[in-house]
Amino acid sequence: METVGLFSRTGFIAERTLMFRIVLPSEIREGFEPGQYVHIEWESPEITDEKGNGRDFSIASTPEEWPVLSFATRLTDSAFKANLERAPDRTPVKVSGPYGEFTLPSGMGTRKWNQPVVFIAGGIGITPFRSILRHYLGKYSSVPFFLFTTNRNVRSIPFLEELREMSKNNKNLFLEQIVSQPEPDLPHDLETGILTPDRMFEAIGERAKNGDYYIAGTPSLVSSFTTALHGARLFPEQIHSDPFFGYI
Ligand SMILES: Cc1cc2nc3c(=O)[nH]c(=O)nc-3n(C[C@H](O)[C@H](O)[C@H](O)COP(=O)(O)OP(=O)(O)OC[C@H]3O[C@@H](n4cnc5c(N)ncnc54)[C@H](O)[C@@H]3O)c2cc1C
Repeated sequence: METVGLFSRTGFIAERTLMFRIVLPSEIREGFEPGQYVHIEWESPEITDEKGNGRDFSIASTPEEWPVLSFATRLTDSAFKANLERAPDRTPVKVSGPYGEFTLPSGMGTRKWNQPVVFIAGGIGITPFRSILRHYLGKYSSVPFFLFTTNRNVRSIPFLEELREMSKNNKNLFLEQIVSQPEPDLPHDLETGILTPDRMFEAIGERAKNGDYYIAGTPSLVSSFTTALHGARLFPEQIHSDPFFGYI
């Protein structure tokens, strides 16, 4: 698909973290698989810089919401993001895709209780998992999903309330949200520290060796976790990574 959609802001979902949407022309029927991303480019941006007018974004919404695609991003001082903050509603943007194979493994329908699907989201790396979980949690209710998120502090956790609700309403979702900066009065369902593979394996227990592991976020987080998981004697087919190139 290569088309032009209409941009608008949805609102803030964490500190300096904006959710926005693009409405595609209704005649486009291609759809996407949760976990995929698109390339978005301003057609005639108000502000430009040498870093360019386009970026890749994982789709954070579900196929049911088509022809609306939603995204979430950390705001920075790039021209691309300044336009996200300032562009009027219904500004045209070029959209191409969907791309990528960061999608659930085949055979989900016959997966057993001892074969968990494990998601590791570094910061804004939550976006593909939001799409997958909203779409598939109910459908695959006998498959255990584990979602580990890691953020700097409580204010910066994207979709905090929504994820809490999701885990309350779905017995097959185990949610562990970790913040790296110690904070007084940390809500009881959040934890402080660093997410390590050992910490994760302990939470998953015995069945950890049968899991599929998905890691999304900055390239450095994705690469360090991927290396650690390879070191934990998982098969390469069990490890799926989605480095958000462009973030340091
Ligand atoms: C598959 C994928 C999914 C992503 N999903 C999200 C998401 O859901 N939310 C989100 O906030 N960000 C996502 N990103 C990152 C996003 O594309 C931006 O790079 C990021 O938001 C930083 O943009 P910036 O303007 O703030 O940073 P800046 O540092 O100002 O700009 C980023 C720089 O990185 C360059 N760049 C972009 N892609 C690549 C690449 N593949 N290889 C090398 N350089 C590159 C850009 O051209 C630009 O110069 C994703 C990236 C990828 C590859």
